Amino acid sequence: MRIDLHCHSTASDGTDTPAELVRNAAAAGLDVVALTDHDTTRGYAEAIAALPDGLTLVTGAELSCRIDGVSMHMLAYLFDPEEPALLAERELVRDDRVPRAQGMIARLNELGVPVTWEQVARIAGDGSVGRPHVASALVELGVVPSVDDAFTGDWLADGGRAHVEKHETDPFEAIRLIKGAGGVAVFAHPGASKRGRTVPESAIAEMAAAGLDGIEVDHMDHDPATRARLRGLAKELGLLTTGSSDYHGSRKTCVLGEYTTDPEVYGEITRRATGAFPVPGTGGNPAR
Ligand SMILES: [Zn+2]
Ligand SMILES: [Zn+2]
Repeated sequence: MRIDLHCHSTASDGTDTPAELVRNAAAAGLDVVALTDHDTTRGYAEAIAALPDGLTLVTGAELSCRIDGVSMHMLAYLFDPEEPALLAERELVRDDRVPRAQGMIARLNELGVPVTWEQVARIAGDGSVGRPHVASALVELGVVPSVDDAFTGDWLADGGRAHVEKHETDPFEAIRLIKGAGGVAVFAHPGASKRGRTVPESAIAEMAAAGLDGIEVDHMDHDPATRARLRGLAKELGLLTTGSSDYHGSRKTCVLGEYTTDPEVYGEITRRATGAFPVPGTGGNPAR
């Protein structure tokens, strides 16, 4: 059983529509795929309607958090999307996305880069605008060769010259809200040092004590030594460990199913969740 628990669609900053994502996931041989767009659940309906036979959809989201000035992402799985407190927090984070992107564009203009809001909005299309869209604009303009090269201190990495901070949730509050909505909380790519400073292990231990369920270990931004360290930490703290592609369609180089989650861990996540159930594919025929 192949399980990929972290994927983005055009509902946030991926390039596949939710329908394309589930079709591509089936074509990639996955049995389970999670839709985890940034701070939104609005891709769910389209993904469920298009879900191919034999593929199970795990509904989720990737919540933008910050602790002691360090940005981090919290994956939330199988929570109730209508639960008001978590819904309100997702809206608060999303409403900040446009002013933030405009702030980064203004800084880039000051640095002599002729990027415009119109260009970034066109790249974002129907998705909620975010830093990867600004990064894609830099690639279009020939400022950097790839999106990854835009995520450096010179440009858009946390604390970089053109970076603007956004409203982000305290992770302890995020854990409380996810649990309150019946969901399961997994700290996404905790060792992704390329993206900026990472959260210290002492804080991960505090999160574990506050109800964190797991950490994402097998991820493209973790080298083998980081994975080994995180696996040891998870064992010590009694946390689940997941693996996933963090697929963004053509915006990033990773492919669906590049990393996967152990079926036993997946089973434990579904046992802990009370806010929603995984959705089995019916080949796009909801009458079955
Ligand atoms: Zn992330
Ligand atoms: Zn992600």
